Amino acid sequence: MAADREWEVVIGMEVHVQPRTRSKMFCGCATDHVGQPPNSVVCEICLGMPGVLPVINKQAVELCLRAALALNCEIPRHTKFDRKNYFYPDLPKGYQISQYDQPLCRGGHLGDVRIHRVHMEEDAAKLVHIGRSGRIHGSDASVVDFNRGGTPLVEVVSEPDLRAPAQAREWLELLAVTLRRLDVSDVRMEEGSLRCDANVSVRQAGSEALGVKTELKNMNSFRFIERGIEAEIERQSAILEAGGEVEQETLHFDPRTGELTPLRSKEEAHDYRYFPEPDLIPVDVTEEMIAAARSALPELPAARAERFQDELGLHPDTARVLAFRLELGDYFEAALDADGAEAQPLANWVVNELVGQLEDADPAESNVAPEALARLVAMVEGKEVTAGAAKQVLARLVAEGGDPAAIIEAQDLAAIGGDDGELAEIVARAIEADPDAADKVRGGNAKAIGALVGAVMRETKGRADGGEVTRLIREQLSL
Ligand SMILES: [Zn+2]
Repeated sequence: MAADREWEVVIGMEVHVQPRTRSKMFCGCATDHVGQPPNSVVCEICLGMPGVLPVINKQAVELCLRAALALNCEIPRHTKFDRKNYFYPDLPKGYQISQYDQPLCRGGHLGDVRIHRVHMEEDAAKLVHIGRSGRIHGSDASVVDFNRGGTPLVEVVSEPDLRAPAQAREWLELLAVTLRRLDVSDVRMEEGSLRCDANVSVRQAGSEALGVKTELKNMNSFRFIERGIEAEIERQSAILEAGGEVEQETLHFDPRTGELTPLRSKEEAHDYRYFPEPDLIPVDVTEEMIAAARSALPELPAARAERFQDELGLHPDTARVLAFRLELGDYFEAALDADGAEAQPLANWVVNELVGQLEDADPAESNVAPEALARLVAMVEGKEVTAGAAKQVLARLVAEGGDPAAIIEAQDLAAIGGDDGELAEIVARAIEADPDAADKVRGGNAKAIGALVGAVMRETKGRADGGEVTRLIREQLSL
């Protein structure tokens, strides 16, 4: 029975990243053309005029090598650029300069997923479909902006090692945060500096052979990637269960409708008639280039998450959030360096309260100095202030900064302890004011104590420790 079949999903990723270079891949034009008029950041080279000569951008090669080392790739000594020939209006030369059989980097892995290759190429220009308002001779019109044409791209191609949409998304998030930590790219999906295609196929569980794959093009958010792959798996399994065959093609996923529409039938490499770029000499990667790239490697997010767990004893989930959100991890380490607070409570305050109150804004740019948060958390741990009151202090820190001890003093938020007798008096008054509740508690109704605790909390405006209040109530009721 077809419906009883178990399908296994096979996913590979092709990720294009724009490295943070000042100039384009083969000319001196700026890569930053935000706000510039269309077709103003261009020259003879990136417009593909006859007779011009491209020059390789050294910084782009350095950033690609740095990424490749972080992805544990092999770096062959010899590499070259090739022409990938095809016609499209966003490609004025009629070919794209890319790398075919001698990429800058091969092999490697990120987490459990193997990397097939990492190579460099230039970006195409941008086609803008202006629709009805721009009708020319009665047809909808498309215009082309060459400002983006010739921008460097690093392409990371994984092996088909991913087995689920959520796993693909997580891996891509890991790749993105790794590249951001490396300072290779700002990896902003919404601005196009990180673009992702997914190759998806399904096969019967246990089968060794790969099924026919389709390619989902240019998905522009992590969430859409996961949803697009899910939709494609459903589409392919339905075809196979009905006894049909999946066609090799390129598809577009529309996140608004959830629909997949074919873009074109997928080309094979031989359709592009690759040949070596005659205007560029092959690049010999030297020991010095590799050493320089290696020296620029920082601690990577996966290693940082492990260190947070192993050395600081953080819970794995907290460690991962701090390591994968670079600004949070940096802030947490700065606060930890300030000394005073234990790692786990400090991490909890950063990940939960601080992130919540800052509404995801970068804490380094907030009014809350890392030392101030560390001191506040230490005071909570030392029971000098309750967690509830500390949240009020944090709100004040977020609003205007300052020193937590001074805020606690000025707003009279210090914890009311059991030693000085003040809390015991407040508890006694609460019991006197609500004899019904007191009787119920004495009679064994444990829930009734909530009314008394609540009254004390209101009276003390959250400055009393809930556990201590409960203890005093039970003591005074002789329980
Ligand atoms: Zn140019």
